[in-house]
Amino acid sequence: MFETQDTFKHQGMRRGLVSLLRDKGINDELVLKAIGQIPRHMFFDKVFHNNYAYEDLAFPIGAGQTISQPSTVAFQSCLLEIKKGDKVLEIGTGSGYQTAVLLELGAKVYTIERQRELFNITKPLLTKMGYRAQFFFGDGFEGKHTYAPFDKIIVTCGAPFIPPKLVEQLAKNGKMVIPVGEGKEQTMTLIQKDETGNLSESTFGNFSFVPMLNDKQY
Ligand code: SAH
Repeated sequence: MFETQDTFKHQGMRRGLVSLLRDKGINDELVLKAIGQIPRHMFFDKVFHNNYAYEDLAFPIGAGQTISQPSTVAFQSCLLEIKKGDKVLEIGTGSGYQTAVLLELGAKVYTIERQRELFNITKPLLTKMGYRAQFFFGDGFEGKHTYAPFDKIIVTCGAPFIPPKLVEQLAKNGKMVIPVGEGKEQTMTLIQKDETGNLSESTFGNFSFVPMLNDKQY
């Protein structure tokens, strides 16, 4: 059961979330505007969880997965510096909330989810909300070479290592943001490819994501 109404109460709580994110140091106005527009409570599968939707918390979304914490979604979105028309590959569609943020920022989004259950729920949910992306059921370690190169790549699960195919599919002058690490915590890593194809890496502290897995057969 997903909520379909965006009430004044939800809108008020959403404004509260935006000012909380501002207080936490998120200062990209376009990202804040996107978060201010998206009814995050509609991405929760149980209406009685709605009241948590505008707290800065990660939350279970079924199939043992989570909707990422708003400040983490905001932080990754800021690092990518999305420009209108950017071609973006997302690994880990999950609830589709991060997908919606990328779309609000004007990106053309290709998103991959490895859990059939979530893929089957999220694709129609976003479409019904008017968010148009290309949805794929598959393994994010493979990327999507038929649509490569991508201006930006965002990984929203904890990667044990940087998948070489994703690096290959990153465009020149492109940016990839990926939490890297095998334990409970991962290091937020930004990989930039310059116009000659050289790579550079910078890190931005520790975060906690569900693991990026490749144990499924497709
Ligand atoms: N962006 C999501 C975050 C969901 S949690 C959101 O905003 O809700 C991370 C997601 O990554 C989970 O749905 C999980 O099933 C998925 N995932 C894990 N390993 C993956 C892989 N190898 N390929 C694609 N998706 C993967």
